[in-house]
Amino acid sequence: ATPTSIMVGTGRAAELGVLFRKSEALQQLRDVAIVAFDKTGTLTSGKPTLTDLILDDDFEHDEVLALIAAVEAKSEHPIAEAIVTAAEKQGLALGAVTEFEAIAGNGVRARVDGRLVTIGSQRHLNHLDFSDFSTAIDKLADEGKTPVFAAIDDKLAAAIVVADTIKPTSKAVIAALHAMGVKTAMISGDNKRTAEAIARQLGIDEVRAEVLPADKVAAIKSLRQLGKIAYVGDGINDAPALAEADIGIAVGTGTDAAIESADVVLLGGDLKGVLNALTVSRATMKNIW
Ligand code: ADP
Ligand code: MG
Repeated sequence: ATPTSIMVGTGRAAELGVLFRKSEALQQLRDVAIVAFDKTGTLTSGKPTLTDLILDDDFEHDEVLALIAAVEAKSEHPIAEAIVTAAEKQGLALGAVTEFEAIAGNGVRARVDGRLVTIGSQRHLNHLDFSDFSTAIDKLADEGKTPVFAAIDDKLAAAIVVADTIKPTSKAVIAALHAMGVKTAMISGDNKRTAEAIARQLGIDEVRAEVLPADKVAAIKSLRQLGKIAYVGDGINDAPALAEADIGIAVGTGTDAAIESADVVLLGGDLKGVLNALTVSRATMKNIW
């Protein structure tokens, strides 16, 4: 593309709410073969609500909710916020927390009034027996809901189920990318069944689930076998993957870490910006303006 064409293209993109931070990104995006998306906060709103608290017979609802909310009040994870909000709505008093520890991509643990409370993925609690919960949990996960678990004094106490909502335009954006000849993927730290259900609802081609934050870069590298890759994300965890992808695209509602690592920034949270970016890139490289 001519320098003039790149300048005009950058300006057109800005009018559409797409900021190209590097002109190389404008030139490279035309040839993108696959666009990979983070799930939580990118394809979904990232503001889940607590829908179910399924208890083991030996435990009582308010007691469990108060214990887990006390621990999650120390965490900034969206799942934590859903749990704390639910406890607040019920007016539960939260106990004193000590020894709080967060394990990235897995969960949290702490003592509440002396009791050991561990919350997180099945992997995080994998020494416990989940068989009493599995039928109920699999059904909810197949609907796209996220199950996490709570152990109290190392006894499995509850399955905690949260549901996030898919952003209104996500499905149309995936379909439009396919129509433009571009493949799609989703990379998520969430449980496999849940991630696959969301990907199915959206018509996404490839899913990489239960990916630890440190492994998002490896997921990008493996998907790159399909061709030039763009990655769209919002979180602190997404920063290395945004830097690794051929074109990193940050959602404007995302964290500063994501925005600073990206080549392209979308204003606001609407993923239609990805289509605008691609359309402007293709037009620019044809020297249309
Ligand atoms: P993502 O944002 O892609 O869902 P994360 O890496 O933040 O992925 O989290 C992956 C998984 O780790 C969550 O789906 C959940 O199972 C577990 N997890 C992480 N933090 C917490 C937390 N504070 N409370 C409960 N579960 C958590
Ligand atoms: Mg996210």
